[in-house]
Order: sequence, then structure tokens, then C-alpha cells
Amino acid sequence: AKSDGRKTHHVYEMEMKYEHVENFIHELELSNALERGELSLVYQPIYNYQFKRIIGSEALLRWNRCGTGFIPPVDFIPIAEETGLIIPIGYWVIREVCKFWKQFESSFSEPFKLSVNISRVQLNEPGFVDSILRILDSEGVSPRVFELEITESTVIHNLMAVQQTLRSLRAAGFTIALDDFGTGYSSLNMLTSLPLDKLKIDKSFIRDLNEPLITSILMMANALKLEVIVEGVEEEAQFRMLAGLNCWGLQGYYISMPLGHEQIAATLGRDD
Ligand code: C2E
Ligand code: CA
Ligand code: CA
Ligand code: CA
Repeated sequence: AKSDGRKTHHVYEMEMKYEHVENFIHELELSNALERGELSLVYQPIYNYQFKRIIGSEALLRWNRCGTGFIPPVDFIPIAEETGLIIPIGYWVIREVCKFWKQFESSFSEPFKLSVNISRVQLNEPGFVDSILRILDSEGVSPRVFELEITESTVIHNLMAVQQTLRSLRAAGFTIALDDFGTGYSSLNMLTSLPLDKLKIDKSFIRDLNEPLITSILMMANALKLEVIVEGVEEEAQFRMLAGLNCWGLQGYYISMPLGHEQIAATLGRDD
């Protein structure tokens, strides 16, 4: 039994080391991923029950790593954040979303938005607001097209600075959504002091169909004049419940998986 224990420990250590090497390799390769064209975006539709149509789509990063196939964002975004690579990657995402918008502009109609996830590292970068505006300007796209998703944990870390940056972004015309709402420690006080337009309720809340809890979040959001999007809608029962609660946006596999360019084109009835 004793030697078994040592063996297990040894295997564990090996795995730890292996994970380290794996991270290191990811780091090296991620720095080339952009130039190699290995990054791409998929778009997950957001549905509005009152309009009975898609009222937005969220851009989600995909890394098709040479030789090994797709690496999920949870495995490379933390590395991109630690190394600062999220900065150039983040600007690339903004530029790509601009191009996507221009390609399909005529098929989208108000209040359609394209949502982009913004990391804490990006938001805290000096000159972020100017840089993002410069990109939009050069691509000829209005900030009104964009909804920027900021996670609750980002906000908690640096409330005062984040508040200032979000104010500038909002003044420039961006819509601001607080992502993963309910997983962090945001207080009511914090919610009222931030310049927000929307709350995205984390998928962990919908999983157990907690209607009283969701109802009270919706009431609170309504009082704060915030629209609510619920993510992770996977089943018809969840969809029905949320539709009955007059929730602004519904997102999840039940409505649609994240889609590639061609698939989005197909849903919009165009093929270019
Ligand atoms: P997120 O912003 O919370 O995005 C929602 C995640 O839930 C996505 O995972 C999406 O594919 C997944 N999802 C959608 N519908 C369902 C559903 O019905 N059930 C379940 N269980 N999951 C669903 P994904 O694409 O793997 O992205 C993971 C996270 O990576 C994102 O979480 C976001 O925090 C981050 N991320 C993705 N793209 C970017 C990006 O361009 N920039 C930054 N900074 N972060 C990104
Ligand atoms: Ca998000
Ligand atoms: Ca989320
Ligand atoms: Ca999340």
C-alpha cells in the first residue's frame, strides 16, 4: 500500500510537470497563432422572445492549433492574459468583428449588437479606449454596433479604474454588459455605481431552473434599468420559463450553438 501511495504521488508530479511543459508550449505557439491564422471567431446568437428573433451574437475565440486541433478558450485565454498576448489578440478580435459586421450589415437590424468579451488585462491597459476607437474608425464601424462584456471579477478587482474606463467607453457609444453575473461578489452598491446597460446571468443559475431566484434578479435589474440576458439555455423547459418571465435575451445551445461565418450567413439567408 505504501509503495502504491508513492507511485500515485510520482504520477501526480509527472502530470504537474507535463502540464507545465504543455503550458509553455502553448505560450510559445500562441504567440505565433495570430500570424499563422490559427485563431478564428464563432458567433453565438442571442434571441429575444418579444421580437421573436435574434437580436445579437457573441463573438467567441477558437484556436485551431496546428497539428492538435481545437484548443478551448479556457485553456489558452489565461495564458494569453498572463503573457499579455491577450492585448494584440483582443485588438485582432475587435478588427475581425468589424469586418464581420460590414459583411452582414444589411442583414442586421436594430437593436442588433455584436458582443465581444473584454479581458481584465485589456481593460486595464493604458490607452485601451483610444486604441479601440482608432480601430473602429479605421474600419468605419460605429461603437453602437458593439456590446462589450466585462466579467464580474474584472470589476471587483479594480472598481475605481474600471468605472472610469467603462464611463469613457459608454460615452463613446458602446453598450456595456456585466458578464457571468452571480458568480462573483458584486454588491448592489457596485451595480448602481457602474455604467452598465445589461446583466448576463451566468449559466450556473439556469441549470437548476431556480425561478424565484431568477425572478428576483429580473426585478432588481428592472429597478436598475438593466436588460438581462440569460446564458446556458439548453432545454425547452428553461426556455419556456425565461420567456414567461419576460427576459430580454436568451442564449444557449437550445437557441443555437456558436456558429462559423458560413453558418451565420445561412441563418441570415445569404451566402457570401
Ligand atoms: P463566456 O463569455 O461566459 O461565454 C459563454 C461560454 O458558454 C462559451 O464557451 C459558449 O460556447 C458556452 N455556451 C454557450 N451556450 C451554452 C450552453 O447552452 N450550455 C453550456 N454549458 N455552455 C454554453 P467558450 O466559447 O468555450 O468560451 C469560454 C470563455 O472564454 C468565455 O466565457 C469567455 O470568458 C472566454 N472567451 C471566449 N472568447 C473570448 C475573447 O474573444 N476574448 C476574451 N477575453 N475572452 C474570451
Ligand atoms: Ca461572455
Ligand atoms: Ca458568461
Ligand atoms: Ca463564463
